[in-house]
Amino acid sequence: MLPVVALVGRPNVGKSTLFNRLTRSRDALVADFPGLTRDRHYGEGRVGEKPFIVVDTGGFEPIKTEGIVKEMTNQAQLAVEESDIIFFLVDGRSGLIPQDQRIAQSLRESGKPTYLVVNKAEGMSEVVKSEFYELALGEPYPISAAHGEGVRALVDMALEKYPTEKEIEKDGDFAHKIRVAIAGRPNAGKSTLINALIGEERLIAFDMPGTTRDAIEVEFQYKDKDYILIDTAGLRRKGKVFEAIEKFSVIKTLQAIEKSNVVVLLLDAKAGISEQDANIAGYILESGRALVIAINKWDDIGEYERTRVREEFEHKIHFLKWAKSLYISALYKRGLGNLLTAVNEAHAAAFVKLSTPKLTRALIEATTRQLPPRARGGRPKMRYAHQGGMNPPVIVIHGNALQDVPESYKRYLEGFFREKFNLKGTPLRIELRTNK
Ligand code: GDP
Ligand code: GDP
Repeated sequence: MLPVVALVGRPNVGKSTLFNRLTRSRDALVADFPGLTRDRHYGEGRVGEKPFIVVDTGGFEPIKTEGIVKEMTNQAQLAVEESDIIFFLVDGRSGLIPQDQRIAQSLRESGKPTYLVVNKAEGMSEVVKSEFYELALGEPYPISAAHGEGVRALVDMALEKYPTEKEIEKDGDFAHKIRVAIAGRPNAGKSTLINALIGEERLIAFDMPGTTRDAIEVEFQYKDKDYILIDTAGLRRKGKVFEAIEKFSVIKTLQAIEKSNVVVLLLDAKAGISEQDANIAGYILESGRALVIAINKWDDIGEYERTRVREEFEHKIHFLKWAKSLYISALYKRGLGNLLTAVNEAHAAAFVKLSTPKLTRALIEATTRQLPPRARGGRPKMRYAHQGGMNPPVIVIHGNALQDVPESYKRYLEGFFREKFNLKGTPLRIELRTNK
């Protein structure tokens, strides 16, 4: 599982500034999709060579408890419990205050590996650290979240014992087994779907790690293909079936998404799309994983309502139109074959191999059909393209004056490549590189 880093500290110490620096949020990307709310508490770490998940515990709605002033909200405490590493932020400019002491106390009690981070330390000497030794949390690490100083070193040190992306991929059966995560809010039908998929004779093997900290993974085969289902629901095996035991956890959902190649976003036809669904869609989008949307409990929608309900869903998930959406019934095992076919397609698209000549020909066709708009420095000139990654496929375009290419033109190219190479079910990333 990817390690989880929680940012803890009193208000105004710089947690959200550090969060933004660590996740380099793809706000621009998400802003393109009306209806998609971005949950600013959780994100993918993008500093250093090791993948991780970041949680900003600030700004969680405080839960009022009678008479007691809580230093950390219940949600923040829960996040600390679910994390592997704590970055405890203090403010190097305002110095140590009693509130820091109280938070330090509860962090010491949590027993989690905690790094004492002295923020806003830009331009200050090492002396800034001295008063914080008193917190008895070991060596203080001065950083500047706003300027990025010391951040990379802190991350590298904290993640020392965790694997790099390459190491994870090597032992993850990434190439031949399709890793599927089923994500959705409570009651969408995740455990019912998992039981339906692995039910009966198709079930090949169970692989159940002993600790509750790890997600359950179940292998199964369908029509000669191998799949690994990654649970997000906090499932437990009870006799022959799985049932959900834990309440919804964003962290577990994120970890499962990261461990998968293809995510099945399970929606409830009866209940419509909630904010929680939109948040989960946002996490998937940010992860770059392939996606299939399954609208469950279709059996529960009367025949006369179906057209209306279908139109409503299609309207609301329009921003995910590159993904296939299907109407299924996990309970009556309807549509499961189509679901797995869509998963296969999405997986194949996510791992497509596109040669440089093929990509360059497509690029020339796209730019001839519609020229990139002229900008200050003249018209951008795109020369050739190569593939820079998989799951999601990354198309790297080389040329001149590409820094002026607008987002809208990048999206045009994305759509063009998607259609040209029939990439249903996977996001596609376009990177522009201006040659010197
Ligand atoms: P949070 O409440 O802990 O999430 O704190 P914010 O990230 O909102 O930051 C609070 C204030 O501190 C903002 O005005 C930030 O611009 C400022 N701040 C954050 N990091 C730094 C830093 O490294 N140096 C300085 N000088 N200011 C910072
Ligand atoms: P989870 O919390 O996402 O794991 O959801 P469950 O699998 O526990 O399902 C929640 C409820 O929805 C249960 O009562 C299921 O029987 C019901 N349910 C699941 N799938 C379907 C379906 O396809 N049709 C109908 N009518 N009910 C379903």
